[in-house]
Amino acid sequence: MSERDVARALREHGEELASAAAAQVGDAFTWPPADAFLKSSANAFLLGVLFTQGLPAERAWAGPYLLSERLGHLDLDRLANEPEAVRAAFATAPALHRFVQTLPRWVSSAARRLLDDYEGDAAGIWPSGAHVLDVTERLLAFDGIGQKKAAMAVELLVRHFGVQLAGIDCGTVAYDVHVRRVFLRTGLIDKDTPDEVRRAAARVCPEAPGLIDLPTWLIGRETCRPKRPACERCRLGEVCPRHVDRDAPGVGVRRATS
Ligand code: SF4
Repeated sequence: MSERDVARALREHGEELASAAAAQVGDAFTWPPADAFLKSSANAFLLGVLFTQGLPAERAWAGPYLLSERLGHLDLDRLANEPEAVRAAFATAPALHRFVQTLPRWVSSAARRLLDDYEGDAAGIWPSGAHVLDVTERLLAFDGIGQKKAAMAVELLVRHFGVQLAGIDCGTVAYDVHVRRVFLRTGLIDKDTPDEVRRAAARVCPEAPGLIDLPTWLIGRETCRPKRPACERCRLGEVCPRHVDRDAPGVGVRRATS
């Protein structure tokens, strides 16, 4: 186990995330009416993300368009407050999705969140200039959106819709609670400061430090939890020295003062 092994595992994870997202980009938009609908409405795109599970990509991304055809609208207020109508639209043969019980719930829940948190406009989730990690976190707050869908959505927003996000292929790693924890426990840093994190990223992944940003953050959020890290199911489980105590206050590290 060495720093080089940790870096290799993080790079491989980053490349997998990027190529999975790129594959979705290539397959996603093949039906012009559905494509035009998605391009015309950030809300349609957000709902489309919910569909991308258990279906071929082209069928999934046609979902919002077909749902609006069946309902006669894609009005958020009605999607949130008329769950029976949404459920019926999904269930009418041929069903709009394999998961005819789950998808309507996710759609109504997403509509409610868009109304409550984003003034009814999903574009508020990914304003121009926002950092990819912030956008990812906002997407993960929606029922039915996990890491894979969030990463794919970000990739599509940038590559297909031209949304300008910071950090997608930037030259560094964003310092945050998850990233710093993983860097400490994997031994990539022994001093806890933003500069140390950025320097370590540039050292272990000099060709593209930003590549290890998202995988590190995802590992920190999912397995390298502050208490009881799940090393046995962690992507880095076989290469990480597991310095779990390094994240304990006052133990072995100097903390950032700003
Ligand atoms: S969960 Fe365990 S193996 Fe994974 S990064 Fe954290 S300490 Fe290392």
